[in-house]
Amino acid sequence: MLCLEFQEIKRRIQSAAQRVNRPGEDIKLLAVTKTRSPEVVRDAYGCGQYLFGENYIQEAASKLSVLEDLRPFTRWHFIGHLQRNKARTAAELFDRVETLDSIKLARALDKYSRACGKLLSVLIQVNIAGDPAKSGLAPGELPGFLEKVMGFENLRVEGLMTLPPWSSEAEGSRRWFRALYELREKMVQEFGEGCGLKELSMGMTHDFEVAIEEGATTVRIGTALFGPRK
Ligand SMILES: *Cc1c(COP(=O)(O)O)cnc(C)c1O
Repeated sequence: MLCLEFQEIKRRIQSAAQRVNRPGEDIKLLAVTKTRSPEVVRDAYGCGQYLFGENYIQEAASKLSVLEDLRPFTRWHFIGHLQRNKARTAAELFDRVETLDSIKLARALDKYSRACGKLLSVLIQVNIAGDPAKSGLAPGELPGFLEKVMGFENLRVEGLMTLPPWSSEAEGSRRWFRALYELREKMVQEFGEGCGLKELSMGMTHDFEVAIEEGATTVRIGTALFGPRK
């Protein structure tokens, strides 16, 4: 059953990519497993999935503790709001933090990544619509922030992430996805390719195809794979 869901989502990723002449292999499927049991992760792994996303540090820690055998063969991205007092566990558990949104958090993640001898991949979360209910940097803050974060030795900035304001129609997200794409282009012009902003993590169950049409390199999908969350 679950493997069929994965097949179907991959097919939809592929055809969205084809519509805009992008190779489907350029788009990574991040399976969002918040609220799902370790058994569900194991089943997904059995379907060939290796990339997973979690929103809560505590939940991820207990889930990973029973999935130790899979850990070397899987990659885990943190996609929830990260409090500074959880930075240590985040740096220890995850391969990438997609929600970097302050210098204080960057400093903490850098310190703990150094302590465990790790180069931590990070994405900068951008509040692209200026939505007061969402975290992330304002687009205008990005240049100054990027300059500072590039100076942290144990963090590798690899791109941008966003959560657009909710809209019932997938098309409602398009302008925000396009804005994030354009923001990245602007940063690459300003800082050069060396600034490392190649990833755009955007798009979820209801709007991932639009996100791919607008340049997403990672789509974060939970519901369409595992059903509604309780
Ligand atoms: C829960 C979550 C997702 C997955 O959402 P679905 O609608 O279930 O696909 C993606 N990104 C973030 C940041 C989330 O918190």
